[in-house]
Amino acid sequence: MVTKLGEFDVIARYFRRPARRAVLGVGDDCALLGPEPGQQWAVSTDMLVEGRHFLAGTDPRRLGHKTLAVNLSDLAAMGARPHSFVLALALEQPDPGWLEAFSGGLLALADEHDIELVGGDTTRGPLNLCVTVLGLVPEGLALRRDAARAGDELWISGTPGQARLALGHLLGEWELPPALLQRVLPRLEQPQPRVALGLALRGVAHAAIDISDGLLGDLRHVLEASAVGAVVELDALPACEVLAQQPQARRRACQLAGGDDYELLFTAAPARRDDVLRAAAQAGVAVTAIGSIEPEPGLRLRDAGGRSMAADFFPSFDHFLQP
Ligand code: ADP
Ligand code: MG
Repeated sequence: MVTKLGEFDVIARYFRRPARRAVLGVGDDCALLGPEPGQQWAVSTDMLVEGRHFLAGTDPRRLGHKTLAVNLSDLAAMGARPHSFVLALALEQPDPGWLEAFSGGLLALADEHDIELVGGDTTRGPLNLCVTVLGLVPEGLALRRDAARAGDELWISGTPGQARLALGHLLGEWELPPALLQRVLPRLEQPQPRVALGLALRGVAHAAIDISDGLLGDLRHVLEASAVGAVVELDALPACEVLAQQPQARRRACQLAGGDDYELLFTAAPARRDDVLRAAAQAGVAVTAIGSIEPEPGLRLRDAGGRSMAADFFPSFDHFLQP
């Protein structure tokens, strides 16, 4: 016999777990969290809408992972330690197989980062996933967008562009052989938020941001907030093997304008170079210096031959400006 799942069955079966750090978790009108002295809350929300942020039919386990990953990435970008999160969920149908896989992917990543699901909302509607995360950061140590200084080096973690390369294949913009697609697809479907790197960069980096909408677009946010400019060295951009094999124009478009990578872009004084490399080694993530911060506003791209290129060549993602 198939019993229909109600709203409260869904919550109890797939999302409710005993409270650990929270004073009170799922089950009451509000969760209760104990504040910690000397720390500040870092709070962020990110919503994933079917057809906008992910394609219909996306594997639910990976989707659960990604729903939390994009939010953890915001904590990483601030140097905040994950504490707890809430989940607002709209579903057309409470399909047990889907829910099992979705909550499995979500809670597995939560356990990896020791972050606790303390509440949420569950409703019927077009598939829409919204997480709000809370993290903790010692007073004054958050990595803010407005903290870049002229003379800083500009750094990037990992090899951005892979998620966009995979997406281009899924959208039919280009075709990747199956073996290559398998190597870049996990970056689109299961990004790894750079939480450990964000924590290790506290007190070392000046400004930081996570790359969700494209490297140049996100860099512009830092430059505007900090009232500085930057030069990016195109030939210093790191590429994974698959990306390195792509035609130059496609590779650069993926690296500079591709979103969804959730790598960290950050600035640090040149004198802190060794500390940056130590932080990266501690976090187990490669980092590459790709340019520098300059007093003159604006964004300048330069290749190894000294040729410059217009930065507006690589527009970043914008929900209201995209077709
Ligand atoms: P209320 O009616 O007070 O808004 P709800 O009936 O919506 O509460 O939810 C009951 C409890 O279940 C609350 O503690 C809420 O935080 C929690 N909850 C609802 N949906 C989810 C979800 N998707 N994941 C985790 N907790 C949830
Ligand atoms: Mg209530």
